[in-house]
Amino acid sequence: MRIFVPSETLDTENRVALTADYSKKLIELGASLAIESGAGEKSYCSDEQYRAAGASVESDRMAALKEADLVARLRKPAIDEVQNLKPGSMHISFLDPFNEGDLIKAFADAGVTSVSMEMIPRTTLAQKMDALSSQANLAGYFAVLKAAERLNQILPMMMTPSGTISPARVFVIGVGVAGLQAIATAKRLGARVEAFDTRPVVEEQVKSLGAKFVKIDLGETGQTAQGYAKELTPEQIEKQRQGMAKVCSQSDIVITTAKLFGRPAPRIVTAPMLSGMRNGSVVVDLAVESGGNVEGSKLDEEVRLPDGPRIIGIGTLEGGVAVHASQMYASNIYNFIEHFWNDEAKAIKLDLEDEIQKGCVITHGGAIVHERFK
Ligand code: NAD
Repeated sequence: MRIFVPSETLDTENRVALTADYSKKLIELGASLAIESGAGEKSYCSDEQYRAAGASVESDRMAALKEADLVARLRKPAIDEVQNLKPGSMHISFLDPFNEGDLIKAFADAGVTSVSMEMIPRTTLAQKMDALSSQANLAGYFAVLKAAERLNQILPMMMTPSGTISPARVFVIGVGVAGLQAIATAKRLGARVEAFDTRPVVEEQVKSLGAKFVKIDLGETGQTAQGYAKELTPEQIEKQRQGMAKVCSQSDIVITTAKLFGRPAPRIVTAPMLSGMRNGSVVVDLAVESGGNVEGSKLDEEVRLPDGPRIIGIGTLEGGVAVHASQMYASNIYNFIEHFWNDEAKAIKLDLEDEIQKGCVITHGGAIVHERFK
């Protein structure tokens, strides 16, 4: 099986889908590996390191895509690149299948087996391939560092002969993978942390990290079988906003990570709530790519409200720690390939009845095969 890893095309993307270490492991498994020249540069993986791992370094991207049995990357591809893939080959990346109907159709038309990383099931067995989690974890960490750097204040309490400084107050809204890491990071930096999530099971997790859970009675809320939040009614969202306005106004940093799988993110922090926040405070909106939790947040921009907070809307915060984000993503890709590797065929064994493959294979054999997108 010939694997090819192209460079990411988005200017703001710093990660690479496969690091030199994991390239070596794939070659040891029995695959042959090619990487586009310069693909790892922003994650400090040089062409030389890939060569030393046993990979070939290619500069003709379209030719390498055409020859590959498996293409691995982070971001969804352009449609013309899909049309250039070999029929019967496999493509693994984030695909955003809920919003990318034309792309999915292009994969089916090209006869390519497409795997969507965001659709890897949230099960114990598939945890090692779960790129949504590996990346969200780092995004949660980096969100706190970014906010701390923009705050112009320190986070811990300090008692010195020159005076006493109170700890900064951090409010985390949405406590999934990213939110939990944001809480843990803010606590390590010495902040006083509060958090809220609509899933009641989260309260214990918040407390176990030494943070305070903000209680707001929203009536019945819950989660899906996969652990994702259920959508709130407009009345519940309004209650949530009212319950949170005071906490936001007392916070130095608000970090929002509230997402609804496959749907636009809920708009939680409104303009009146922002205008109640103090001058120089910081809001980081981790849901900005799926519509945003914060009114006025802009993708890959920092918006400074007059006499109010800064709103940071960086799309992939994990790109700020690209070395480790690439390492973890590469591990997810390696684990996927290794899990389904057939030693005799020296290729991935396809089995659409397998629980993991059933969850994440979107197209195969010229058709859309995933139940949810058929
Ligand atoms: P996510 O990115 O979809 O959402 C982030 C958080 O936002 C969630 O905790 C969600 O409940 C919350 N949220 C949604 N609407 C909200 C609102 N209006 N106000 C406040 N919070 C709101 O979530 P995720 O990080 O991908 O995690 C989803 C679930 O999957 C969690 O239950 C997590 O524990 C679970 N999970 C399981 C595994 C596994 O079993 N292998 C791995 C990773 C995650």
